[in-house]
Amino acid sequence: MNTGKRFSQGVPSRCWCGKGIAIFYSKTDENPYRRFYRCEIGAQRKKENHLFKWVDEALLDEIRRVEAEQGRIAEHIEDLKQSLTNTVEEEVRKQKNSLEIGCLGSILWLFGKLRSQE
Ligand SMILES: [Zn+2]
Repeated sequence: MNTGKRFSQGVPSRCWCGKGIAIFYSKTDENPYRRFYRCEIGAQRKKENHLFKWVDEALLDEIRRVEAEQGRIAEHIEDLKQSLTNTVEEEVRKQKNSLEIGCLGSILWLFGKLRSQE
């Protein structure tokens, strides 16, 4: 699940070391009770550089990521609409042309019939 997701983006699901992550509360004076994601191993081995990310920043990231995704989807839908409109217009034009040719053909055929009866 979510293995393709990069740690730098949005809400992290795993540390680079493969371990799961947990939410902890900061106990520092600068960030009292501020929540953060931390690798379970990293929480015990503080000297190693395991995943750390503030929860609020991760959520903001996630919102930005979703917004960007929405923008891309909206553009894609616009493209689809345009290409659908083009296809329909082209089909209508083709049908119209073949109808006109069909009409002309019938008229010519009728003329031919009338002539042969004269
Ligand atoms: Zn880790």
